[in-house]
Amino acid sequence: MTPNPHASVVPSLRVIPRDEHDISRKQMSRSALKVLYHLREAGFSAYLVGGAVRDLLVGRAPKDFDIATDATPEQVKSIFRNCRLIGRRFRLAHVVFGREIIEVATFRANGGNDDEEEGREVLASGRLVRDNVYGSIEDDALRRDFTVNALYYSIADFSVHDYVGGFADVQSRTLRLIGEPEARYREDPVRMLRAARLAAKLEFSIDPATAAPIPKLAPLLADAAPARLFEEAMKLFLAGHAKSSFEHLEAFGLLPELLPETAQALALNKSGALRRMLVQGLINADTRVAAGEPASPAFLFAVLLWPAYCRALAQLQAQGIQAVDAQRRAADRVTMRQVARTALPRRFSLPMQEIWLLQPRFVLRQNKRVSRLLAHPRFRSAFDFLELRLAASDTHAADVGFWREAQSRPGRVLDEDNRVAGNRPDSSGDQQ
Ligand code: ATP
Ligand code: MG
Repeated sequence: MTPNPHASVVPSLRVIPRDEHDISRKQMSRSALKVLYHLREAGFSAYLVGGAVRDLLVGRAPKDFDIATDATPEQVKSIFRNCRLIGRRFRLAHVVFGREIIEVATFRANGGNDDEEEGREVLASGRLVRDNVYGSIEDDALRRDFTVNALYYSIADFSVHDYVGGFADVQSRTLRLIGEPEARYREDPVRMLRAARLAAKLEFSIDPATAAPIPKLAPLLADAAPARLFEEAMKLFLAGHAKSSFEHLEAFGLLPELLPETAQALALNKSGALRRMLVQGLINADTRVAAGEPASPAFLFAVLLWPAYCRALAQLQAQGIQAVDAQRRAADRVTMRQVARTALPRRFSLPMQEIWLLQPRFVLRQNKRVSRLLAHPRFRSAFDFLELRLAASDTHAADVGFWREAQSRPGRVLDEDNRVAGNRPDSSGDQQ
């Protein structure tokens, strides 16, 4: 029997009326509003919930609009023609408006008072493996992770319903787990990554009791599903707050769980050059997102795993393996080990490897090689990566200058630097 993670929490309702909060319907998706109104007209209760309410309260544009209701998924389906039911573990209704999907979830209970509840299963480790019990709105609030994620915006009177003190925590910009932190992390270790990510994204501080168990419990992430960890990594590093996410992961000892090989390589890189480059890559990604430009997962992982790649390459070469072969094998080894942790799909891992494997070609400047590299479909990413490597070392400054010029005059006869071509071994990455 695991301890009840909610033993200390008694939900008590605080209603924040319309004139005491800043959420306006104008900030909401029209589709979400339609769903809320229709559920209410059909006699059900309907609330906007979770990240959307939290984000609106802090003045951010929500990514998605989730709705909670006392209607069952089947009842939701009977109200909306454009509705499909998804999920085996827990059934959810998706109401579809063109490209927008509004997720409607029936109030559900878990982490309630009774571990023996039908449909609920807790492993000896405390990890929740099934949760498909409908419940009251109070139950629904208690099973959520952080207090600020458990606020309900009512379409009936536009008030915010708060059962766990989330409204005060939004105001003091505090991330606090609902219930007993250690037990909540054991139920679902990914909550540790969510703490780091949401603190970074919202610029909230993490309540000391919520932060304290993380370094000790971080190894529990070894049991998390790799596909889920990949999704979480994308949210950590491609949502505009990558640098801060990375710093939070480091501070909480979570980096070795998410990027084990990189964490090791960084610890061994005494000059800090590899970390400097990695962080610069994350800053660049954040800048792109802020400007509304796409940031690619392949380039991101090329940045995140470069320290691991450089280390693997150095090890293989130390065993006497010849450069080109060692590069290929280092790329494969690092990819394979990372995939075991964060299921990196091949459509991202292949271009990531290409970015690495093209790096040594930037020192080769014979005409034929130059035009071939310029025409390579991955040239641009590889060149951007080369530029990024300047943050670790200025060894490649001349290469960056040469290739910048080469791109601006693709028809030019490139012969002035041919002396250098092929003479510089660049097979060892940035090992300084
Ligand atoms: P984001 O801004 O990234 O969307 P979010 O808080 O909305 O952040 P989602 O993954 O969209 O995150 O989850 C929606 C809501 O579901 C959360 O606000 C929270 O109430 C609940 N939730 C999500 N993940 C968990 C979890 N691991 N444990 C408990 N509740 C969770
Ligand atoms: Mg969300």
